[in-house]
Amino acid sequence: MYLAELTYKVIANTHFSRAEAAIRAFSEALIFNGNMLGREMPTAWQQDRFSSRLVIPATDALQRTNLSSRALQAEQQLMAAGLAYPQLQVLGMDIMSQHTSNQPVEALLLFTTFSDNCSPLRNMADLAPLPLYQWQPADGGDHENLIRWQIQFQALDEIQQQQQRVLQKTAENSLQQYHSVLNRQGRQLATKISQRNTLPVYYALYSGSSTDCHADATKRCPGCGADWQLSTPLLALFDFKCDSCCLVSNIAWECQTP
Ligand SMILES: [Zn+2]
Repeated sequence: MYLAELTYKVIANTHFSRAEAAIRAFSEALIFNGNMLGREMPTAWQQDRFSSRLVIPATDALQRTNLSSRALQAEQQLMAAGLAYPQLQVLGMDIMSQHTSNQPVEALLLFTTFSDNCSPLRNMADLAPLPLYQWQPADGGDHENLIRWQIQFQALDEIQQQQQRVLQKTAENSLQQYHSVLNRQGRQLATKISQRNTLPVYYALYSGSSTDCHADATKRCPGCGADWQLSTPLLALFDFKCDSCCLVSNIAWECQTP
């Protein structure tokens, strides 16, 4: 990923609140199409311009051909708010985030964790993230539904990672149970993205903790009941894979042999 600066020059009389609203709408459109990562875009007002810092998945992430129609409309609104078209300057590689995959893609994996600042669509070849704007969205004109699913997944994962959890089992159950609303939504998104892009999209089912390590290591695919254990883990992470259900998972962490 890359750290970049986006500059919005003031070219006409404008109100701070109008300019701020237009910049906010444009940023939101970039977030929901995967052109920028994360949800924070610190922005400074510097007399004749506004400057924002953002993380982008590739140096060409903000090229017009990669923008959604919503982002292009929001860009027009910047003009109406007295701002010039934003100018992007790439500052360099972001050393704090994952790198975008550069391997050929044969299958995708929908996978995210609480600490990610990247696309939840990964290349099955190397687990590295892929920019969302390169793929047809599950529904509508951009990836808003997928990003909103990722936000909820990460929030629950963050909670269940804490020692002093404020939700005892609720967060983990949502992440772990095949039929939870969170996992149903995620699997539906994976199916739709698969259909719209005509390639397999696997869903990574979080395994969580287990009180019975024998049962956990011999569990069956929760989608179809098949034996889905792999002889060697996939991507050094997944012990289970079902090609019929497009599902991968792993043995609970405390049950894994080092
Ligand atoms: Zn299955």
